Amino acid sequence: MKITVIGLGQMGGNMALTLQSAGFAVTGMDTVEGARERLAAQGLNVVTPDALPASDVYLLSLPTSEHVREVIETTPGLLTRAPVGSVIVDASTSDPVVSRELAGKVTAAGLHWLDAPVSGGPKGAATGRLGMLLGGDEATIAHVTPMLEAMSAKYTHVGGPGSGHVVKLANNYLCAAHLVTTAEAVAMAARSGVEPTACLAGLNSGSGRSAVSEVNFPEWILSGRFDSGFTTGLMRKDLRLARDAAAQLGMPLSLLQKVVEMWHVDRDHPSDSDDFNHITDT
Ligand code: NAD
Repeated sequence: MKITVIGLGQMGGNMALTLQSAGFAVTGMDTVEGARERLAAQGLNVVTPDALPASDVYLLSLPTSEHVREVIETTPGLLTRAPVGSVIVDASTSDPVVSRELAGKVTAAGLHWLDAPVSGGPKGAATGRLGMLLGGDEATIAHVTPMLEAMSAKYTHVGGPGSGHVVKLANNYLCAAHLVTTAEAVAMAARSGVEPTACLAGLNSGSGRSAVSEVNFPEWILSGRFDSGFTTGLMRKDLRLARDAAAQLGMPLSLLQKVVEMWHVDRDHPSDSDDFNHITDT
């Protein structure tokens, strides 16, 4: 199976190397020369946007749906350049409305669509241990199962096109909320004299636990490392998408509105490049 990975950032670069190690014929493409050079130095075959090879799968790991649309419709235009029968897998965290629209165009062009947003960060991508949420049809999933097995510790088929992206927004809404609620809970306990590590041990043996209390606090927050590889700017994008999805569905989710406000998603922020675990009220 020939795979072209488009977007060689924190996630896409590591996914490409993992798939290559698993024996797939992988080519990487990124619009940024530095990203191409970084991956070429690690042994990946890289190309510029104008030199996309014919492939069985195009795996996209791009910042936003606008970038996904550009790659599919404009440059390099997978709609016209990908071989009939090939599969476009969008592993970005994308806007589900745009994903459904693009899935329709992709299918009309004789290609196949799968949304496959991921969890697990750069480390999960580098070790083939990502969690994946799949939106698409059974036949397309069956076709790319060897690739999914190489990338993922657990993949879950949640529905048709766009469904993977909806569930990913729901997941990241919960993660953003857990970061705030757990920080408040640990701060309250600390003010009353309980060490954060002791507080977390207690939470993790009770019903207040989450991935944030079990993983984020020990690995990235209490350690002071703040090097998860996922930025505050990307989490703000995900919260904007979750808010927009809820609004389109006519659902004024009150806690979501509060979380959106607390993450300051609507202002310009130099902190967009911070690690997303860096909770701040500015
Ligand atoms: P990143 O910014 O590190 O990488 C994105 C890459 O895409 C960059 O190298 C950029 O140059 C490239 N790019 C932009 N436009 C392009 C185009 N038109 N053609 C080719 N390449 C292009 O981002 P990331 O952290 O790797 O995240 C990628 C996606 O995965 C995002 O949608 C993000 O929300 C999602 N995600 C990230 C993480 C994480 O921990 N970093 C975890 C889960 C999901």
